[in-house]
Amino acid sequence: MKVLVLNCGSSSIKYQFIDTNEKAALAKGVVERIGMSSAVLSHSRYDGDGIKIVGEILDHAIAIEYVLGVMLSKNHGVIDSKEDIEAVGHRVVHGGETFTDSILITDEVMQVLQENIELAPLHNPPNIKGIQAVKRILPNVPQCAVFDTAFHTKMPAKSFLYGIPFELYKKHKIRRYGFHGTSHSYVANKAAEMLGKNINELKIVTAHLGNGCSMAAIKNGISIDTTMGFTPLEGLLMGTRSGDLDPSLILYIMGKEGLSLNEAGTLLNKHSGLIGISGVSSDMRELIASVKEGNKRAQYAFDIFCYRIKKYLGSYAAAMGGLDAFVFTGGIGENSAEVRSEVCRDMEFLGLQIDEEKNQAKAEMISTGNSKIPILRIPTNEELVIAMDTSKIVEEIKVGN
Ligand code: ADP
Repeated sequence: MKVLVLNCGSSSIKYQFIDTNEKAALAKGVVERIGMSSAVLSHSRYDGDGIKIVGEILDHAIAIEYVLGVMLSKNHGVIDSKEDIEAVGHRVVHGGETFTDSILITDEVMQVLQENIELAPLHNPPNIKGIQAVKRILPNVPQCAVFDTAFHTKMPAKSFLYGIPFELYKKHKIRRYGFHGTSHSYVANKAAEMLGKNINELKIVTAHLGNGCSMAAIKNGISIDTTMGFTPLEGLLMGTRSGDLDPSLILYIMGKEGLSLNEAGTLLNKHSGLIGISGVSSDMRELIASVKEGNKRAQYAFDIFCYRIKKYLGSYAAAMGGLDAFVFTGGIGENSAEVRSEVCRDMEFLGLQIDEEKNQAKAEMISTGNSKIPILRIPTNEELVIAMDTSKIVEEIKVGN
């Protein structure tokens, strides 16, 4: 099946057109700066052909029209007509407690997505906009939602409840949800495949390290704990997000600096993490370059980033009662040998021994032959999971009809 996968953010849309039979992307691209004066569409085709279009793209619907335009174009296109798009799969950040799996989008589903906006005020509204736009532009094409939270919905209560009055969970649904579920699930399954083992018999820790970062403890194929929580702010240090901190300190800072709720949210989400500590960059490449130049604050940021991953790795091994594999993924996890090396340093006591040569060479298996526990570097592919889930749901409906 040929599926258009959309990841709609507030001012960008990432897309891939995937042939699920071949498990390959026929085209991919991104529209950036939606709503700004000079938006940019960067499109590339499977054969390396590419094009950049700059224009005024005022909203998500126009952006999707542009994407379809380029997909249909004579010189850069991959389809002859809109009918070649058999289904559309959307990455939806928050499925709340309702959606434990990917789902066909119906009016009832849209209703629940609207209700979940409160839980993900930054992420769900653009996801919904994308779905509505496709409904208008491709009214007969089935659409599915694949949730970042779904993979974590089987966590036990001891992992998802916070130490606050229970009524607040009941009343406001305040609990750990976890995010990046599609990625954690994909790389854990890939790891099991690479090890030639059944995922139902493995204890795996996955570290998705991108602009946002999270780790998951995956026991017998189920996410039993994860570092992101009620929102994607908790846990690891990230590009611009603080990750774990003492909850009282934000009240203290608000008092001291006279910050409003909104300003405090912005401080923790946009001005903290790598950029906040280093003052240099939220981008790991730039941060490492600065570390190499001897910048002390960049070094602190790098050290804290790696140290937290180490701490969670140890705690998740304890939570699962053992460890069979450790996986790095995401832009940093896949590309930064420095981060992988620092995270795995002095971890022999836990059975992890990194092979520096393989690590530098970006091998998939980066542990030594003597390492009791394999360390893997696996490129994530959330779009493929979204396409595969979408095609499965749509095929099932066809059979049902
Ligand atoms: P997103 O979470 O937005 O999908 P990515 O998964 O693409 O982001 O990750 C972006 C991060 O990956 C940035 O911090 C970037 O610096 C980092 N990154 C990409 N390439 C490298 C590299 N070669 N070395 C170190 N970090 C890298």
